Amino acid sequence: ERNKRQLLLEINKTAANYFYYQLNGDQGQQAREYLENRRLSKETQIHFGLGYASKYSNDLYLYLKKKGYQDQILKETGLLTYDEKRGAHDKFWNRVMFPIMDVNNRVIGFGGRVMGDGMPKYLNSPETMLFDKSRNLYGLNYARTSRKPYMIICEGYMDVIAMHQAGFTNAVASLGTAFTAQHSVLLKRYTQEVRLAYDSDGAGQKAALRAIPILKSAGINVRVIHMDPYKDPDEFIKNLGTEAFQERIDAAESSFMFEISVLEKNYKQSDPEGRASFMKAMARRLLEFPQELERNIYIDAIAGRYGIASEELKRMVNSFGASMS
Ligand code: ATP
Ligand code: MN
Ligand code: MN
Ligand code: MN
Repeated sequence: ERNKRQLLLEINKTAANYFYYQLNGDQGQQAREYLENRRLSKETQIHFGLGYASKYSNDLYLYLKKKGYQDQILKETGLLTYDEKRGAHDKFWNRVMFPIMDVNNRVIGFGGRVMGDGMPKYLNSPETMLFDKSRNLYGLNYARTSRKPYMIICEGYMDVIAMHQAGFTNAVASLGTAFTAQHSVLLKRYTQEVRLAYDSDGAGQKAALRAIPILKSAGINVRVIHMDPYKDPDEFIKNLGTEAFQERIDAAESSFMFEISVLEKNYKQSDPEGRASFMKAMARRLLEFPQELERNIYIDAIAGRYGIASEELKRMVNSFGASMS
């Protein structure tokens, strides 16, 4: 088993080198232009080991065969697909390649992006003996030594890379998969606080709402970074720059206030009944804070934000609390 792991790691490394070599060779022109248009410097590309899987759909397979690797082991790398007619062939072709590294800088899988609007936009390695999506975070190999008091979690490869390039080397991503309890346990080894930088669309907001309780159960403090009017950290930095992004990070709101602002959208604020229901729902949520001091701080914050009298909200919370016990 151990030998097999070693062999799979070796093949992944060989593949990553091959993709890198293709990116920088004759075939790689379009991919190089793509990355340049995405504003990734050569230095950044090298730092993240970016590459290119060429148009010829069997290049990698033939290369690995030539190196002496047998079909049996190649099958387990997740780099190939199989079908009756064609047999083995490359899973990734004509894509920009992102090697996924574990915390020890070993290549455990790949993501590949089409250069343009093709579908699917990203293709990721399947789970293999090496690659467990729910236990690895993209960028953590670098973020773990960033010495910032918090980590930034975002959605994708490009976000992590754009942030690192801009100096936010504490950014990581859970790739194309929901944030899991195992992810939070892994992060807890390195940090006490997370700032979420998910996409500003509905999917990103949902992902944030799901990640918050998971992180909190691991004992991690959570804040949420607002990305609007941009879609994600990559676009934000590209348009408004590093300093503006740092300001957003500094202004990140507590996960509780974020949850309240999402809750708000479920109620029709112009309607008195809707507003009353919203207040009751907030009062119920405020009971989550067992300590009066902390609870009162949030009561004041909410009262300020929604133009409610603190005392009134406090009374409501207390009456709910009394009826619960
Ligand atoms: P780009 O990465 O080019 O900026 P984007 O910001 O629109 O594109 P999203 O759609 O927000 O990318 O996707 C974020 C992350 O989710 C990707 O980096 C990738 O890890 C994962 N992902 C996106 N689409 C897919 C897909 N079709 N299959 C698997 N994973 C995907
Ligand atoms: Mn998204
Ligand atoms: Mn993006
Ligand atoms: Mn995005």
